[in-house]
Amino acid sequence: MNLKELYQEIILDHGKNPRNLGKFDNYNKDAKGHNPLCGDDVHVYLRLNENKKVDDITFEGKGCAISMASASIMTEMVRGKEEIEVKEIITDFLKMIKEKDELNNNILKEDEKTKLMSLSGVKQYPMRVKCATLSWHTLSSALENSQEVVKTEK
Ligand code: ZN
Repeated sequence: MNLKELYQEIILDHGKNPRNLGKFDNYNKDAKGHNPLCGDDVHVYLRLNENKKVDDITFEGKGCAISMASASIMTEMVRGKEEIEVKEIITDFLKMIKEKDELNNNILKEDEKTKLMSLSGVKQYPMRVKCATLSWHTLSSALENSQEVVKTEK
């Protein structure tokens, strides 16, 4: 299996069977995001504990396979990480999706990076980039405790 096939397999898997789907009771941060170009909706819930670590993170949503796979993979990447690490991962991911060829953070393990890189194929498709980044912008907003709904279009 080549890398492209591996990436496709990861996206299909997460798109069909999203991890951490649903809402949990004692979250203390959340935000909603909407991508009108594709019709993707996400609602991200997380709990930051007293040590500023992400205890738990889940999402609710509907949309295309890319948006659901990206949200699913995102929850796996940031669970158990500290807030400051989460912010670095978000920044690194957004840069990778838009302009870079690789991830540069030292937080994620190699196999985690491979999973995240599975979304790198959307780079050539500006419409798909919005699907892939929606949940990440929404997570960022949740950490800022912004009450505004994230929109990919102004
Ligand atoms: Zn989409």
